[in-house]
Amino acid sequence: MAFANPSFLEIPESYLFATIAKKIAEERARVPDRAIIRMGIGDVTIPLPKACLDAMHAAVDEMGRAETFQGYPPYEGYAFLREAIAANDYRARGCDIAADEIYVSDGAKSDTANFTDLYGPENVIAISDPVYPVYLDSVRLAGFKASQIRFLPCTEAGGFLPEIPKETVDIVYLCSPNNPTGTAMNRAQLAAWVEYARNHGTLILFDAAYEAYVSTPDVPRSIYEIPGAREVAVEFRSFSKNAGFTGTRCSYTVVPKGLTARMKGGGTVDLGKLWLRRQATKFNGAPYIIQRGAAAVYTPEGQREVKERVAVYMGNAGRIRALFQSLGQKAFGGVDAPYVWVRVPDGFDSWGYFDHMLRTHGVAGTPGSGFGPCGEGWIRFTGFGNPADVDRLEGLIGR
Ligand code: PLP
Repeated sequence: MAFANPSFLEIPESYLFATIAKKIAEERARVPDRAIIRMGIGDVTIPLPKACLDAMHAAVDEMGRAETFQGYPPYEGYAFLREAIAANDYRARGCDIAADEIYVSDGAKSDTANFTDLYGPENVIAISDPVYPVYLDSVRLAGFKASQIRFLPCTEAGGFLPEIPKETVDIVYLCSPNNPTGTAMNRAQLAAWVEYARNHGTLILFDAAYEAYVSTPDVPRSIYEIPGAREVAVEFRSFSKNAGFTGTRCSYTVVPKGLTARMKGGGTVDLGKLWLRRQATKFNGAPYIIQRGAAAVYTPEGQREVKERVAVYMGNAGRIRALFQSLGQKAFGGVDAPYVWVRVPDGFDSWGYFDHMLRTHGVAGTPGSGFGPCGEGWIRFTGFGNPADVDRLEGLIGR
């Protein structure tokens, strides 16, 4: 009989959002005629931008003609998309990133998780607490022991930002704007991490999935806005949250040339080469039709539609934050991220308050403890619903 990967015993039995989906289904069965207000899962609700749809329709037609038919896509993505990304997301913002440093993929979830394939077994890895659970789960599944993982507490006292460790870590995951706390690092705070990484030989894995939501001028949208970051950082980005590609699937990872890792036997290896090698073995590329849709995000029409979506979600987030604050609960975020991080009332823990909100009002958040022990006592609400849901929430719990 086959042996299972024992690391599965080291991670929670079900993914946080699967547990929440199960609880919502149970509540639906208990009160069938009440529509649940879903402010838990970080999925978008506004349909795809028309610019993307038009581009995808045209690409579907191309696939039906012999002269434009596309087979397997390039592992690293089509040049038209990589060039559009480099020009618009980087060069236009003064970041020195070239098209051949961009690797297109089918999701920032898979890329952040799959990047663990590149690490040697001896690394010490730092992960914020609380944060997007995929980093910790995938590091554990890759076989890293608890003793190799350092948690960086993100507490209210510290503005929910990870403190720079005193010791040397080999790899650190940073997520800014942050899921779940909704806070984002400013230029000086991110520059301090880049300096730490340069001084300690640390690789920064920077997840910028929510960069489209940044509104504060002093908050970088890319780590490459910080001088010297090219030599120490990989950046993950996604079309999920800006253009609504959660169900369509397209993302990219930036691995700058010259970014290297040590080999145990001596010498260094180019990380971009390793990542391409990894993708070529385990991934057959993101579909042509989808990449055509993603490229349309960079057209003037696509940009306008992205801005409209961000404005709706951020409008919701601001109202959710104001609502809880008006009830006397502490609430953060909702400025540079669509997430609002709310302190649960006395007498509740995160799951207790989640259950209370679900059963009493039919409102689903996400328990903060699901993102790490420092999330205990907090709950996350997202602005990804429609404004009518926020109206209902205000009617249900507002004063
Ligand atoms: N990174 C963070 C921080 C996220 O919160 C999410 C999704 O919620 C992702 C990545 C996943 O992005 P994608 O849809 O591209 O897989």
